[in-house]
Amino acid sequence: MKKVYDYIIVGGGIVGISTAWQLQQRHPDKSILVLEKEAGLSLHQTGHNSGVIHAGVYYAPGSLKAEFCREGVDATINFCKKHEIPVENCGKLLVATSALEMERMQALYERCGTNGIEVDLLDAEQLKEAEPNIVGLGAIRVKTTSIVNYRLVTEKMAEEFVAAGGELSMQTEVVDMAESPLTITVKAIKNNQPVSLEGRFLVSCSGLMADRVTKMLDIETDFQIIPYRGEYYRLSSKHNQVVNHLIYPIPDPELPFLGVHLTRMIDGSVTVGPNAVQGWKREGYGRINISLKDIWDMVRFPGFWKASFANLKTGLIETKNSWWKPGYLKLVNKYCPMIKLEDLKAYPAGIRAQAVMKDGSLVHDFLFAESKRSLHVCNAPSPAATSAIPIGNYICDKIDERQPVTESKVPVAA
Ligand SMILES: Cc1cc2nc3c(=O)[nH]c(=O)nc-3n(C[C@H](O)[C@H](O)[C@H](O)COP(=O)(O)OP(=O)(O)OC[C@H]3O[C@@H](n4cnc5c(N)ncnc54)[C@H](O)[C@@H]3O)c2cc1C
Repeated sequence: MKKVYDYIIVGGGIVGISTAWQLQQRHPDKSILVLEKEAGLSLHQTGHNSGVIHAGVYYAPGSLKAEFCREGVDATINFCKKHEIPVENCGKLLVATSALEMERMQALYERCGTNGIEVDLLDAEQLKEAEPNIVGLGAIRVKTTSIVNYRLVTEKMAEEFVAAGGELSMQTEVVDMAESPLTITVKAIKNNQPVSLEGRFLVSCSGLMADRVTKMLDIETDFQIIPYRGEYYRLSSKHNQVVNHLIYPIPDPELPFLGVHLTRMIDGSVTVGPNAVQGWKREGYGRINISLKDIWDMVRFPGFWKASFANLKTGLIETKNSWWKPGYLKLVNKYCPMIKLEDLKAYPAGIRAQAVMKDGSLVHDFLFAESKRSLHVCNAPSPAATSAIPIGNYICDKIDERQPVTESKVPVAA
């Protein structure tokens, strides 16, 4: 008789694996299968990010981002400590370099208070003392920001999931679905043969493909994923000690991206970035990767044009700086003048899965969609790596609300 899985999860990034791991802990007797189209875990957003455990400074009070990020800090650090994954609490400075940024900094400072995040305000002199190589008029110091390698976190969660009885099927792409009964057609990359699987409930955590997976179940949604590349450089190793903290600019509150920052990585190197430029291939990391299918989907979507026109000036400046290294350098030199052009070495880009609504608005918060037998993570941009444990916990709660179970709940292991 054909096996019917209790839960099928699409996506081997940190959100899918965190969900699978926690669901298996709650329901050790249920059969849970994770489907991932790549040969390894974390090969998309999770493996191409800055590795920051964000404290939750930026997010609108009351939003899911603010709540999950705050909870995610402790959950992630405790998980890392328990499993001996390197993590470093280096803290971060948000540096203001103009009168306008000083004003925005004050608003951010107040938001930190509302979000319950402890921060200090530094004047120019205190900033110099904390960071001799950084210049600015003032800064917010966030002590609870840390760094980690999210690939390692995902791999450890996957190991725990499999040890608890979960199944991982790699190189298995979901290509079609039907809801009643829940049937999932997958294509094994190895032989390209379609195979049909059956399940009782599906969770999609498919990142850059989130909208396409919802469409497979004919779920009516108003968003589309638009890929925004985040391009980095790595500083030459002589600059590995250039900063003590992570150094961020004060962001434009209208934009969902944080601005080019100096990030100390857990391997000891320092990266500069990421910027935010239009991507022309959802999972294409090379500078001139294009996908006709991805472009065709974008240009037919009114939200793409509206978002592009609304952010035209920023988009053009970012694109210019992407192609013209001295322009990119200027963004860093604003607060770290000692970095020279020759210090910027190549480093792999990441691609953000940003949900954009039909009216052109960029979705700021985490976004979910549901159908009778499925739950979809539609928008999980930064800080979703930091928030992956609370997001997984939230999804497990949602599933349990719909499908009451008799087993006692095991609390999220941190
Ligand atoms: C440049 C950049 C910097 C960032 N920096 C940070 C940071 O410092 N801190 C932080 O908290 N967050 C950061 N983020 C955000 C964070 O990385 C993401 O929010 C998080 O990794 C999302 O995880 P995910 O599992 O939803 O998506 P992903 O990691 O993209 O995983 C989705 C998975 O689904 C699989 N998939 C898709 N479609 C199918 C299908 N049809 N069949 C089978 N499998 C499928 C994909 O192959 C992929 O493995 C950053 C993101 C970027 C791009």
